[in-house]
Amino acid sequence: MSFIDLHCHTNASDGALSPEGVVDRAVNYKLTHLAITDHDTVNGIKAAQAAACGRICVIPGIEISTTWQHQQIHIVGLFINPECSYMLNLVKDQNGKRIERAEKIGYKLSRIGFPNAYERTKAMAGDGAIITRGNYARFLVSVGGASSTDDAFNAFLKKGKRAYVCTEWMEIGTAVEAIKQSGGVAVLAHPRRYDLTNTKLRKLIEEFKDCGGIALEVSSCQQGLNDRDYLASLCRQYDMLGSVGSDFHSEGPYRDIGRNIDLPEGITPVWTCSEAKAYAF
Ligand code: AMP
Ligand code: MN
Ligand code: MN
Ligand code: MN
Repeated sequence: MSFIDLHCHTNASDGALSPEGVVDRAVNYKLTHLAITDHDTVNGIKAAQAAACGRICVIPGIEISTTWQHQQIHIVGLFINPECSYMLNLVKDQNGKRIERAEKIGYKLSRIGFPNAYERTKAMAGDGAIITRGNYARFLVSVGGASSTDDAFNAFLKKGKRAYVCTEWMEIGTAVEAIKQSGGVAVLAHPRRYDLTNTKLRKLIEEFKDCGGIALEVSSCQQGLNDRDYLASLCRQYDMLGSVGSDFHSEGPYRDIGRNIDLPEGITPVWTCSEAKAYAF
């Protein structure tokens, strides 16, 4: 168990729990710090901070979708000011794209036997939630179209499958700039979860660093020890800080807040950066 978790989702995007529910869960596990990093939105942060009531330090964050060399790459922003107008403008543009894409996915699913998929997924997700493929996966499971979220991806939602919709998200540099403008730091999320060769991953890290990114998410749930060691070695090689995050979305056997995300020895934690000073690490 780790007492710091810097990557998790609420029902402001594709998490199953409310911000209050996520905070209560982290408090039960005795965490000291939890970052709320919903996909392309800051909407869950205020409620999470209010629910904390001095029991835990809630760090404002975001997970921004970008496209790099035809791959969807996630950039986590930590210690951001969620009221920063520069960030809010970027989020607004991104949400427009998200809605357009979610409607297209819904249309495709409707045509293959899941009528009104968009409306029903939206209703499940709740008011104003950012709809990701994660929400669609949960909808498909709930209506018996898939046996698990993984199955939903493999059968319908991933690249090459019938309900996949290709989207060109913003460039990495655009996301990093917005994170910096809002007072935060940029972290490359789950670097081993992309379909990249080692050579390409190194190129991604170099470009990310050139854009102003300062940390790699070295430790995440459901990750092999080899992956963690490899990411630690990249952290050292590129002189970057290390972050830790469960990427918690919902209750289940595999991922949980704070679980199995210890930072390897010798890696400088991202929370030693000056932007983290206000958060009492
Ligand atoms: P999107 O940003 O709309 O493409 O959706 C990405 C989200 O879908 C991720 O943040 C995960 O929550 C979820 N996801 C991606 N791949 C899988 C998978 N194989 N199984 C379950 N959930 C997944
Ligand atoms: Mn997600
Ligand atoms: Mn992600
Ligand atoms: Mn995530």
